[in-house]
Amino acid sequence: MKAEIIAVGTELLLGQIVNSNARYLSQELAALGIDTFFQTVVGDNMDRLQQAIKTAQDRADILLFTGGLGPTQDDLTKDAVAAVLGRSLHIDRLAMDHVEQFFKDRSRPMTDNNKRQALSIDGAAPLPNRTGLAIGNALSEDGKFYILLPGPPKEMIPMFEEEAKTWIMQHILTEEKPLYSKMLKFAGIGESALETELLDLIEGQTDPTLAPYAKESEVTVRISTKAASAQEAMERLDALEATIRDRLPEHLYASEDVPIEKVIIDMMTLHGLTVGVAESCTGGLLMQNLTSIPGSSAAFKGGIVCYSNEMKEKLLNVPHDLLEGEEAPGAVSQETAAVLAEQVRMIMDADFGLSVTGVAGPGFSERKPVGLVYIGLSERGGQTATFKLNLKGNREAIRTRSAKTILYHLWRRLNERTGV
Ligand code: ATP
Repeated sequence: MKAEIIAVGTELLLGQIVNSNARYLSQELAALGIDTFFQTVVGDNMDRLQQAIKTAQDRADILLFTGGLGPTQDDLTKDAVAAVLGRSLHIDRLAMDHVEQFFKDRSRPMTDNNKRQALSIDGAAPLPNRTGLAIGNALSEDGKFYILLPGPPKEMIPMFEEEAKTWIMQHILTEEKPLYSKMLKFAGIGESALETELLDLIEGQTDPTLAPYAKESEVTVRISTKAASAQEAMERLDALEATIRDRLPEHLYASEDVPIEKVIIDMMTLHGLTVGVAESCTGGLLMQNLTSIPGSSAAFKGGIVCYSNEMKEKLLNVPHDLLEGEEAPGAVSQETAAVLAEQVRMIMDADFGLSVTGVAGPGFSERKPVGLVYIGLSERGGQTATFKLNLKGNREAIRTRSAKTILYHLWRRLNERTGV
């Protein structure tokens, strides 16, 4: 089955909004075992929209639309699909009740054009919109499938998850065995290095399949298989996971889609361990990562953002001689990273102390290059480790990667210590 995603909206063509719907839908379709061969963007124009539909009919089995279901005259998707298929539109009673109720609840008069949001193509299944007003549609004709979803992601995603996916399973994937997937999460390794390690598996893949992709300093590999039962699928996926784990034991940190900080907080909580952090160039990002995990208070004691040298000295007892002077190593140095990690661990009375100090850019500091970052890892009763990073990218990327890298080193240390 080949799909084409057609995002409708002049705003997309003008670059005013990013086509995040296409990205989301491509990922979701891949997870269902459906290949997306084309993503099209077309403006709110009847002729061009119909032209896009006809082109897609020639090269795809499933046409998935987002946008253009709203109340205004430039919301044309249903009209265009109906016109190409030679069908009419009618008001869906339930959807109309929903629209009327919406305005009644808010004591607002309903303008006539809002009826458009309750329009349905004749013969199509209405897809209710739990988080908005415009209903979606799903229909098939001549072996082609048409699924119409709203533009706003907060409406489109729930409608896809709750309505369209079921319709796809029941009407499109009936012959196929269900697809089972597992997400393997890696840290401390880039996408290309990981691909090199797994190249023979990626190139030789039939079933299960492997798909690596990178996001926000973490690499994910989705492994998928089509199987008659969940048990059969899990046996195959577990076997492949074991092969991958054997090759990259120091990088594979989870077999579900969770960030590394979640694994760290869980491990620390389980073993009654705690951590404190001292941050310079990341300005609190590391703390934000850790505290974004519910229940992090069991393991995360607190942190100090010591952005200036003054605060490094005052709050974290970094010796003045280390920070300033001709011969001083400076704030961005292995020495300072070590003192910060040790001091914050002691101040917080924690089992681990983490530190980050570096040059996030764009300008250099202390005559040191952008991307030079030192991280420190201090451990109660153990040696303090420091790591020198030479990171690439803009300020945001350098800060994100610095925080993720120290988390990676903490995860490795926890593995060694707890014997997982
Ligand atoms: P509405 O009822 O709000 O008019 P609609 O289904 O007609 O919804 P559009 O009018 O095309 O959708 O888009 C409404 C808003 O949804 C856009 O302003 C934008 O914020 C968001 N949106 C639309 N298409 C996309 C897309 N492809 N990716 C991300 N966001 C989108």
